[in-house]
Amino acid sequence: MSIAILSSDKTDGSWFKALTDLAPDIAIEQWPNIDDAKRVEFALCWQHQPGTLLPMVNLRCICSMGAGIDHLLNDQQLPQGLPVVRLIDPLLCSSMFEYLLSAIMQQLRHWSHYRQQQRQESWTPRLTASIEQTKVGILGLGELGSYSAKRLAAIGFQLSGWSQSQKEIPGVASYRGDAELSAFIGEQDFIICLLPLTAKTDGILNHSLFQQMKAGSYLINVGRGGHVVEKDLLAALASGQLAGACLDVFQQEPLPSGHPFWRCDNLALTPHCSSITDPVSVAPQIIENYRRMQEGRPLVNEVDMKRGY
Ligand code: NAP
Repeated sequence: MSIAILSSDKTDGSWFKALTDLAPDIAIEQWPNIDDAKRVEFALCWQHQPGTLLPMVNLRCICSMGAGIDHLLNDQQLPQGLPVVRLIDPLLCSSMFEYLLSAIMQQLRHWSHYRQQQRQESWTPRLTASIEQTKVGILGLGELGSYSAKRLAAIGFQLSGWSQSQKEIPGVASYRGDAELSAFIGEQDFIICLLPLTAKTDGILNHSLFQQMKAGSYLINVGRGGHVVEKDLLAALASGQLAGACLDVFQQEPLPSGHPFWRCDNLALTPHCSSITDPVSVAPQIIENYRRMQEGRPLVNEVDMKRGY
């Protein structure tokens, strides 16, 4: 019986090593070198090729190799009725917070403006808002959103968040549901998207939402590329309705050559690196879930596939 790693891009051997170092007694296999698909009981997946789980007829659990599970929902042939778990990890949370803080601060202190000035040998200081004057709103107050909200509030930012259900997070104003989205959005200097990609949140960062944002505010999307309607974002950036945006995730990754985002001056791009899962850090919870599965005990970090996150 084995754990199989199925990923089209996490292929450098670091996941295999982290798992075998921790649990030398468990057989670990890395797709596409799987000797006997019938041996696989536990599948670790990230952007796997649709249909590759089908021959694994003895599969008992599917584990996402990250926080999101939208990539699993893309596989129309994913075996149904099996428990699905995801990874929740303190390092993922702190890494995301550090990325968000750096993205906010580079905008607050006009770094891209000064880099342009530097190229032109120009000397024009700008006034800046303080951290305490700055309102930051987070769409999605789950594991990553609530952690970042708490840390940003502790620094002194004015924090709000939007989720399906009401939250009680000290120092963070809670908005919930479609009815409160507009009031939430219109207040913020920075909007951060940390939503999961579901049927309800697909395309949520669109023309209508940008029009409701404060004029001259700033968008940071670290959720999924599918949250953004790209032509609407380009229009909002061109008109100045948004002062700028920072994107870590895209409809198509890597971002294709020639895409207009590459040449957009008030857009900061990063290659889906805001919070990268560290295999050494998450290996214990993967092995823990494998052993729980074998012993018939409840799994940790199980997701509701019907809800979509
Ligand atoms: P999570 O714990 O599942 O939390 C999701 C949050 O979104 C919850 O607060 C949920 O509300 C809210 N939500 C979901 N659908 C909603 C809707 N229709 N309306 C309002 N709120 C809604 O997720 P997480 O672990 O924080 O991760 C969030 C996402 O970040 C992941 O799904 C992934 O896409 C992205 N991510 C990106 C990177 C990166 O490197 N760029 C890394 C990790 C994760 P309730 O709490 O009320 O249910």
